[in-house]
Amino acid sequence: MCGIVGYIGQSAVQEILLSGLEKLEYRGYDSAGIFVVDKMGNSHLFREKGRIAELREVVDFDVPAQMGIGHTRWATHGVPSIANAHPHQSQDGRFTLVHNGVIENFQELKATYLPDVALTGNTDTEIVVNVIAHFAKNDALTTKEIFREALKVVKGSYAFALIDSKDPETLWAAKNKSPLLIGVGTDFHVVASDAMATIQLTDQYVEIHDGEMVQLT
Ligand code: GLU
Repeated sequence: MCGIVGYIGQSAVQEILLSGLEKLEYRGYDSAGIFVVDKMGNSHLFREKGRIAELREVVDFDVPAQMGIGHTRWATHGVPSIANAHPHQSQDGRFTLVHNGVIENFQELKATYLPDVALTGNTDTEIVVNVIAHFAKNDALTTKEIFREALKVVKGSYAFALIDSKDPETLWAAKNKSPLLIGVGTDFHVVASDAMATIQLTDQYVEIHDGEMVQLT
């Protein structure tokens, strides 16, 4: 089992995500990536096959970002590659998702909701982020409602951390049968597979239960 780290707060996020992922290296992984949103609302995606040390080489530390999500992947669907590394983005670029676990009905989801979507990789996760974007076609829905509608149709194990580029002040999380915790700070929140990833930031953690969705601001 690989790992997730997410952060929303006041500090430069790149180092928080990378050092958090390094603390989760013991869980094993074949690729890694981070996604950060800068103060102007622009998004930046960095992914690498192999070690986090190699990911560090491609990350731009000068981007002034205080929110982001990071992931170490242990491939279940699709070979280890940059295209299959997380975070994954919806085709329209609006949603960015990291996922630990296995989506059991990914083929059915693809056939039902994404007949016309050209996927860039082979993961079950890329299907989920595009299913989220599918529900966003209904302009009347808020991000919370969109995520909730998507979670209703997804079957399997997951720890998810999600960013909607239309709302760069919010980080979303959900879990079912894969570990995920919320860490609470004074001017920040974190989400992590294991408290060890962010223990230097806070020692206050809240368990997310299976079937729960969390909004971090
Ligand atoms: N099933 C997803 C994939 O193959 C996530 C694997 C993981 O838990 O890292 O990309």
